[in-house]
This record gives sequence, structure tokens and C-alpha cells, in this order.
Amino acid sequence: MYTKNEEELQCLGERLGCLLEKNDVLILTGELGAGKTTFTKGLAKGLQITQMIKSPTYTIVREYEGRLPLYHLDVYRIEGDADSIDLDEFLFGGGVTVIEWGHLLGDALPDTYLELEILKEEDGRRLNFQAKGLRAEKLLEELQHGV
Ligand code: ADP
Ligand code: MG
Repeated sequence: MYTKNEEELQCLGERLGCLLEKNDVLILTGELGAGKTTFTKGLAKGLQITQMIKSPTYTIVREYEGRLPLYHLDVYRIEGDADSIDLDEFLFGGGVTVIEWGHLLGDALPDTYLELEILKEEDGRRLNFQAKGLRAEKLLEELQHGV
């Protein structure tokens, strides 16, 4: 997929946010400034979160209340050291978990998650989705076909 500006990226995030269910996990990859936090802002809208989304880069995790709770993590600073956070508290917390740089967590990742790689392409962004496990495949299908 491709989004041509920040607004379009947030819109796609919002669409995904509308489709999310309890215990869904999204991993975001892409260089600094790619738009991981921007995408999460849109996603939060789809979860009916009205609070302002701030980057969790320095706090590692931020929690928000919406249609479902959102656990927004950025594990860049802990270099994917999964033992330094209680990951299960989020993964099985009955909400939605979004992890920037989540691929760094390796083996600590759950069996099913959706991964989105955001690549800068001039003013726009190239989006590569990869679904791991059945639930993520279903979610990606719904997102792609607008069901
Ligand atoms: P990350 O969390 O990946 O480090 P952020 O979402 O915090 O990235 O920052 C992305 C920055 O890039 C924002 O300042 C945003 O305004 C800017 N930007 C410019 N063009 C785009 C675009 N097409 N899509 C997303 N962000 C964009
Ligand atoms: Mg960020």
C-alpha cells in the first residue's frame, strides 16, 4: 500500500483501529520519522480514544482508554530487551498493543501479530504489511478489502 501524505497515513491507521479487537498486536517498523507514531494517532481515533497520543520513546509505554485500552510501546531504548518490561501485562491485558520497533523483541513476540513496515518515499510512505498467524491474516484481509 502507499499513502501520499500524513493525513492519508492517519486515515489508514483509523481504518485499522476500527477493525481491532481485544488482544490484537501490531508491530511497527521503519526508521526514525517514518511515521510509526503518526500511524498510531490515527489508529487511536479508530479506537475512539480522545486523549492526545504522545510518542512513548522515552517512557517505553503509554496507556490510553477508548473502545478498548491501547498500550502504545516503543522498545527502541531498551533495545528489545523483553525482560525489562512486563510484556504479558499488555499482550494479555484485554486491549490493543502497538509496539514501535517491536521486531527487536524477537522470541518474546506472540504467535499472532500484524507487522507494518513504513518506508519513506519522497513525501509519501510505502507500507508493507505482514500478517503472522490466523487472526492477523483475517485483520489484514479486512483492511485490504474494506470489509
Ligand atoms: P516515528 O514514530 O516513526 O519515529 P513520527 O510519526 O513520530 O515517526 O514522525 C513522522 C514525522 O514525519 C512527523 O513529524 C510527520 O509530520 C512527518 N511526515 C511528513 N510526511 C509524512 C507522511 N507522508 N506520512 C507520515 N508522516 C509524515
Ligand atoms: Mg515514534
